[in-house]
Amino acid sequence: MNMNFAIDTLYDTRDADGDTLKLLIDTDDSGYLFAAAAKRRREYYGTDIYIRGLIEFTNYCKNNCLYCGIRAENVSAVRYRLTKDDILACCSEGYRLGFRTFVLQGGEDMYYTDGVLCDMVSSIKSAYPDCAVTLSVGERSYESYKALFEAGADRYLLRHETASPEHYAKLHPKSMSLENRKQCLFELKEIGYQVGSGFMVGSPYQTLDCLVEDLRFLRKLEPDMIGIGPFLPHAGTPFNAFEKGSLRRCLNLIAILRLMFPYALIPSTTALGTIHPDGREMGFMAGANVVMPNLSPNGVRELYTLYDNKLHTGSEAAEGLSELRERVAALGYNISYNRGDVNRDCRV
Ligand code: SAH
Repeated sequence: MNMNFAIDTLYDTRDADGDTLKLLIDTDDSGYLFAAAAKRRREYYGTDIYIRGLIEFTNYCKNNCLYCGIRAENVSAVRYRLTKDDILACCSEGYRLGFRTFVLQGGEDMYYTDGVLCDMVSSIKSAYPDCAVTLSVGERSYESYKALFEAGADRYLLRHETASPEHYAKLHPKSMSLENRKQCLFELKEIGYQVGSGFMVGSPYQTLDCLVEDLRFLRKLEPDMIGIGPFLPHAGTPFNAFEKGSLRRCLNLIAILRLMFPYALIPSTTALGTIHPDGREMGFMAGANVVMPNLSPNGVRELYTLYDNKLHTGSEAAEGLSELRERVAALGYNISYNRGDVNRDCRV
């Protein structure tokens, strides 16, 4: 098959058959693919890169995802929780730096009941009404999601991790189910959140068929945001001896996602920046248009270790925004200080 023709077709129709997708996911010759994705992104979002201040507010977690460094059974993890005041102080610093979205991410920590979380969200929203609040705190009940939305949360990030039930069962303990995770995503959408999903690239036992299934699931969900990043091993997990994911596959998938979901907000993730010094820039060139620098208090940044060597300094840190601005400008893009909501309409 002529690959450029396949890419043109993907650009025009926003879809492709499984074999074509597999070919594109694994190609070493990505120039035309990245150029098509960059063109698509420009049509919807111009040269803007949107920034989110990431506050990792707890690394306590009741779950035992086999890949994750903050899993409950990792006894070597040093645990912390931030208070509402700690979080408001992060927001104040973030606001001063120019952030207009705050992302509250954490493990599934039962300390943060609906009451505690709703109070945190409404306090942020009343102090910064011009800002968006994004939550990323895992699977909760419909009532909980609804209460948090009513308290003012605008967006929710919940990666499905893998859309293949067999693969999901290899990455998670029996107590967790893909079905429940998917249901949470559809409920979040129904409630009215801007919803983000996504998956790891190169997680143990993942096949090309799994990745095609991931793309098919996203087609059904049509999320506003799609986050992907390479799997990276963590020494304190059962997956410590597995290979990290492939940078190439990850970049190809960002470009494919941009072509399939032109309107999507797609971050160039910390995991991408960790796997290669220029990984984040490569993500932008492949079609990503969001970056989430770390706004957590300095003392806890190294404790939110989902995987080994996770970056939290330089332009990965919220204070490194001017460095980030320069790096982005060198690529022909610009940091936008808008809230950066999803745009479903082509601008050109
Ligand atoms: N508890 C929340 C937040 C999870 S951390 C939730 O369940 O949604 C955010 C993301 O980090 C996860 O969704 C997962 O895709 C990613 N992650 C976790 N461990 C990782 C690892 N070892 N390598 C790469 N990414 C990882």
